[in-house]
Amino acid sequence: MNKELPIALTKQACQICWKTFDRDILIHQNLLIDGEQFKKQFHGKVTGFLDYPCDECKTKLNEKYLPVIIIDPEKSTVNLNNRINPGNEYRMYPVMFVKIDALSKIFEEEIIDEVLQRIEKDRFLLIDEEASKKIGLIDYYEKMKKNPD
Ligand SMILES: [Zn+2]
Repeated sequence: MNKELPIALTKQACQICWKTFDRDILIHQNLLIDGEQFKKQFHGKVTGFLDYPCDECKTKLNEKYLPVIIIDPEKSTVNLNNRINPGNEYRMYPVMFVKIDALSKIFEEEIIDEVLQRIEKDRFLLIDEEASKKIGLIDYYEKMKKNPD
C-alpha cells in the first residue's frame, strides 16, 4: 500500500503581468477526494495571485514605469462598488509599462493626479479600450514596441 501523501504543486500569478510561478505545495488532506483526483484538481493549477509584484515587474516599477492595462469593461466582473477588483478584469492586451514622464503626453493634465492615485492603490491602471483609443494609448504602445524610448 502506498502511504505517501499525494501532494500538488500549485502556481500563483503576478497581479501585474499574470506570469505564473510555482508557489504552494498542497498536501492531500481531504479524505473525501481520492489522491489521484486531488492531484488532477490542483497540480499545476493557478490558485491565486502573488501578493507582491514579480521580479520583472518590480524592476519596471523601480525604473518608474507604470503598469497600464487595457480592458473590456463589458467582459470584466465588477464588485458591489462598481469597481473591478484586480484579477477580474478582461484584458485586451498584455500589460504595458508607461514611463512616468510620458504620462503627460498621454493623459490630460487635470487627470494625472487621479491616474497616479489609482496606480498607487491598485498597483496598476485599468483603462477601457474605447478611452485608450481616444487618448492614443494604443498608438503610443505600438510605437514604443517598435522603438523603445
Ligand atoms: Zn509580473
